[in-house]
Amino acid sequence: MEIVTIPCLQDNFAYLLICPKTGDAAVVDPSEADPVRKEIKRQNVKLTAILNTHHHWDHVGGNKELKADCPDLKIYGHASDRGRIPEQTEFLEDGDQVLFGEQSGSFLHNPGHTSGAITYLFGKTAFTGDTLFAAGCGRLFEGTPEQMHDSLNNRIGKLPDRTELYFGHEYTENNLRFALSVEVGNTEINKKLADVKVLRSSGKFSTPTTIAEEKQTNPFLRCTSAEIKAAVKSRDPDNDLTEKEVFRMLRELKDVF
Ligand code: ZN
Ligand code: FE
Repeated sequence: MEIVTIPCLQDNFAYLLICPKTGDAAVVDPSEADPVRKEIKRQNVKLTAILNTHHHWDHVGGNKELKADCPDLKIYGHASDRGRIPEQTEFLEDGDQVLFGEQSGSFLHNPGHTSGAITYLFGKTAFTGDTLFAAGCGRLFEGTPEQMHDSLNNRIGKLPDRTELYFGHEYTENNLRFALSVEVGNTEINKKLADVKVLRSSGKFSTPTTIAEEKQTNPFLRCTSAEIKAAVKSRDPDNDLTEKEVFRMLRELKDVF
């Protein structure tokens, strides 16, 4: 399966997935229709599916127009997002498959950013939307810190280390700066920040990341780090330093970073 990153809006990513056997394509989170249409034309492929990671407008904004272009389009989202994802036709429940061309994928339900947030999985490739970003995670609009901690650490975080994670926004530089503010001694964060600065200054993007990199640099996957715990304690002296309380405080600190 071929993956093409399509920058949309200010800092969103849509991803065009191409089945090399049939020339069919699926698009993850089309924020807007035009950049997706252009890429479909450039690649000379046939769009047969939209895969929405959650219902926010900056992830589903192109659904209606793309559906008008291709009336047979299948539009996937979590079953609980019924009524919130425009033109949704496929309502995913645990165990369901995601199909386009000769490709078949699966999904993880990871509530926290929204209650219907999901991550799509195709082999060693994952599309995490606004649940996991490089060195960060989404805001808790509809979930508790416990839910988001569980989604990140016990679901997405349990994928194999070499899994490539394609995320929803180019927030990496700012996320790494926050990561460094709570874990100054983490040299991996410094290294990645330097790499990302080079990428960004040459107009490139930081997507994808990998599980291995996130385990080393993402504070939301590192709630057991002694340095992070000390940073949390210094700002929140009553924190009991359980993983979930550390996570809760990290998310609060990031909200105002
Ligand atoms: Zn969102
Ligand atoms: Fe978003």
